[in-house]
Amino acid sequence: MEIARGWGRAVYQRLRGIDTPPGWKSPIRFFDTVVGKELGQIETRGFEGPGPKISAALPVMSSQDLIEAILRDAADATGIVDLRFGHQVTAVVSGWSDQDTEAAVAVRVNATGETYTLAGEALVAADGVDSTVRSQLGIALKGEQALHHFVNCYFRCDIERHVGERGGRVVLRRQPGRRRCVATAGRARPLAVPDCGAA
Ligand SMILES: Cc1cc2nc3c(=O)[nH]c(=O)nc-3n(C[C@H](O)[C@H](O)[C@H](O)COP(=O)(O)OP(=O)(O)OC[C@H]3O[C@@H](n4cnc5c(N)ncnc54)[C@H](O)[C@@H]3O)c2cc1C
Repeated sequence: MEIARGWGRAVYQRLRGIDTPPGWKSPIRFFDTVVGKELGQIETRGFEGPGPKISAALPVMSSQDLIEAILRDAADATGIVDLRFGHQVTAVVSGWSDQDTEAAVAVRVNATGETYTLAGEALVAADGVDSTVRSQLGIALKGEQALHHFVNCYFRCDIERHVGERGGRVVLRRQPGRRRCVATAGRARPLAVPDCGAA
């Protein structure tokens, strides 16, 4: 949120507007099932921010899908960003050699299969852990990889009256035959259950 202050008051306030309600940030509660027995809890006050002596910016704990919609609007509003969804970089065409005066990538439009080349003064490889750009440039990752495979399922259900006032809206749930399931349930939020697969 310190960084978000630099994006202007409107963006900052929209982000503050999607903060979770009181009681969501701490504690994290552990259940055997989402509506079942509470096995324990841990205090996670770090999510409540460092306090006004450290920063005037207030923290936000929210959902990625809500945050990204705001960031997209903010990028659009600058008028200098051309956002293209469904356009996939398939190769780096130029930019890595000392002689190159520009960086260029080959792009495929997923919906149509159309391809084109996009060039600019610099290329930022912000394409995630399986980065096409990084692997093409031969930059190795260190350490253990492919630790888990996650499937995130979001759905709405009438669960509030069963969860009651047990507040902690980050619920870790253990299931026989599964390594771990993490559920976030509560007011005005869909239930999210990332499933880490079989143990
Ligand atoms: C289940 C889960 C929970 C997590 N929870 C937290 C948390 O609570 N707090 C936290 O700090 N971190 C959390 N993380 C980690 C966090 O999500 C990642 O560290 C972060 O998203 C990495 O950001 P990134 O920009 O490097 O890559 P990504 O967020 O992976 O973004 C890469 C983007 O590049 C796009 N892309 C990839 N390849 C191409 C291509 N060839 N052409 C065009 N576009 C491409 C992708 O579609 C994607 O939009 C969590 C991760 C997971 C999986």
